[in-house]
Amino acid sequence: MSKPRVLIVEDNVDNYELVRFLLERAGYQVLSAANGVEGVDAAKREQPDLILMDLSMPEMDGWNATSRLKSDEQTRQIPVLALTAHTLPGDRKRAIDAGCDGYISKPIKVASFDKLVATLLRQAKAGLQP
Ligand code: MN
Repeated sequence: MSKPRVLIVEDNVDNYELVRFLLERAGYQVLSAANGVEGVDAAKREQPDLILMDLSMPEMDGWNATSRLKSDEQTRQIPVLALTAHTLPGDRKRAIDAGCDGYISKPIKVASFDKLVATLLRQAKAGLQP
């Protein structure tokens, strides 16, 4: 079985490096984009199995990028997990309203990261609503 491919859309290098490390350690193939514009392009081009989406980014933020992905036939089926330091309930709601299928709070809890990612991928494969 080929490795699931995960696209990280994140403008902060330290956050990106941590997430990449955790994903590669868990056996995923990692693709990357540094802002929402690049993220939308990469998602269309690469058709990843999952997208991890930062919210605060230059060029295009993660809420806007997710809305675009979820309103496009080519990309709407790809699950999107928001990576967010915006932990107020209203911010989470805004991420879900934009079409995110779930979220991971920053700072990232290493112990629960793998399970969150695996669960979302499994749900997406089964065609279930997360
Ligand atoms: Mn950011």
